[in-house]
Amino acid sequence: MPAIMSHLRSTDFDDIYFSPDDGPAETTHVFLNGNNLPAAWAGRDVCTIGELGFGTGLNFLMAASLFMKNNEAGQSLDYVAVERFPLSAAAIDAALRPFAGRIGAALFDEYIAALPPRIAGYHRVSLCGGRIRLTLMIDDVAAALPGLRVPRGVDAWFLDGFAPAKNPAMWQPEIFAQMARLSAPGASYATFTVAGIAKRGLAAAGFTVEKRPGFGRKREMLAGRFTGDGMAWTGRVPQRVAVMGGGLAGTAAAWALARRGIAPVIFERAPHIAAGASGNPVGLCNPRLSAARTPQSTVYAAGYGRAVKLFPGMDAGFTPCGNLHLAQDEDRTKKFTSATAQWGWAEDHMRWLDAAAAGDVAGAAMPCGGVWLPDTGAVEPGALCRAYAAGIDARVGAEAVPQRDGVGWRIDGEYFDALVAANGMGARDLMDVPIEPVRGQVTFVRGGAAMPEIRANLCYGGYLGAARGGLYTVGATFQRGQDDVAPRPADDAENIAKLAAVLPMLADGMAAVQSRAAVRCAARDRFPVAGAVDDGLYLSTAHGSHGIVTSLAAAEMIADIMTGTVLSLPQESAGALSPLRFARRGRP
Ligand code: SAM
Repeated sequence: MPAIMSHLRSTDFDDIYFSPDDGPAETTHVFLNGNNLPAAWAGRDVCTIGELGFGTGLNFLMAASLFMKNNEAGQSLDYVAVERFPLSAAAIDAALRPFAGRIGAALFDEYIAALPPRIAGYHRVSLCGGRIRLTLMIDDVAAALPGLRVPRGVDAWFLDGFAPAKNPAMWQPEIFAQMARLSAPGASYATFTVAGIAKRGLAAAGFTVEKRPGFGRKREMLAGRFTGDGMAWTGRVPQRVAVMGGGLAGTAAAWALARRGIAPVIFERAPHIAAGASGNPVGLCNPRLSAARTPQSTVYAAGYGRAVKLFPGMDAGFTPCGNLHLAQDEDRTKKFTSATAQWGWAEDHMRWLDAAAAGDVAGAAMPCGGVWLPDTGAVEPGALCRAYAAGIDARVGAEAVPQRDGVGWRIDGEYFDALVAANGMGARDLMDVPIEPVRGQVTFVRGGAAMPEIRANLCYGGYLGAARGGLYTVGATFQRGQDDVAPRPADDAENIAKLAAVLPMLADGMAAVQSRAAVRCAARDRFPVAGAVDDGLYLSTAHGSHGIVTSLAAAEMIADIMTGTVLSLPQESAGALSPLRFARRGRP
């Protein structure tokens, strides 16, 4: 491999990612000048770029760099891109490092560090203190675009999907029709190609087609404008938002809103935040694995992908020991082998291990193989809540009673433009959703004399958290409909018995030292409830036992909906989360 791959080439497509002569200059000529940037950004609160073919992200970085030098107060850049074959961070770093100075060293380093894991689905990356949002859809363009929601519409398109002769899939009529659906009025586009398939497709979808001088050895390129109606957003961005609940759902929502320049106030009736289930000392950061890739699995994948990038840089007690999901029976074996094959995660993020390899990562002989998630581990949920809430106005220790006032709300006479009900079962006071309390008890144990030091978190239906301070966590019971929090010795016994059924040698001689019970809440369909009820009311609740990842995905999505920016989840995933889904299905 050459030391500097400034002309990174795809062997699959037999084409280059960008000009071998001068990639940044080509981006500037074709995509930035071709879309009249930065002039076209004038007067917009949110400047939205859509790109087909993200590749290394050079176009993104050049646009982001230009934006950071040419923006108006309060403006943000929303950049949404699709990429079917994501490159590793190391390959991108190697290809683009020669341009770091032209991009801006700080932006470049921030980008490389924030690159999401190569996991199919949606990824949200927030850079430059939240001024720049990248939504990266890792998927085939034809599969990804129909689910994309861009309420304000895309203002400028970068069409960069390899030469049409080598990759016709990126230049099909249905792709141009999706561009038309997603465009803002008068949206512009630019592309390096003048191939007939592009000209005809763009014209048929309602775009003007103009030839312009191309870059370098290319004589011509195309640019033009959308002549159809385009998307128009008539919403109003709230200034002040009340967030009910100081657990993971509430603090994550407040954190996401604050990064959009919205002032959240957290209301928590307990004397401090993270008083309930979110106050457990150890929580595993896991997606909920399912056999197929579904709108629901996309939510877990999005939250997980973001969490494993974000948590190491937060004061959240993150221990990146990896999580091993054991496949101790036929059902779990089928489910996990199918997930590994179908979820579209690169091997470095999710892989199947046989029993011997599972034993190696766990630090003790395992009775079976399973799925290994090396990027993740456990957090201290209480610390995570405090990290989310840092610098945010949190009113604790008093019951707040919100009163509707038009679209907004009043709490003790104070007016809020919108409210996020992230207070577990309390959300039912604001909207009738079918959620129920679920008691969960975790047991802190000392291992028996022969217990080896377990190096990874082990999941088997229950879980054994890797050793921390000499104690292991064994969890957790899932007791629907129960809401008392006094610890029960029988539940400790149940937790240890569940471990013993799968890993008897680890449970041998194990003694419960302490326990903690708390109440989570879950919906009838065991999927979180998050999204808008109306313009002033949002819910984020029922995060159940995967709340560490789903609360983060839900928080970001709520911030997107409130601000009318690119949705960080596909439409069908947002629909699966929506509080309105029960009404649609009919109540029991
Ligand atoms: N804009 C890129 C940059 O700044 O580095 C260069 C893009 S490169 C010319 C084309 C990209 O399109 C490749 O990364 C390729 O993997 C991607 N691509 C090709 N076919 C695709 C498809 N069907 N769906 C999504 N992406 C695709």
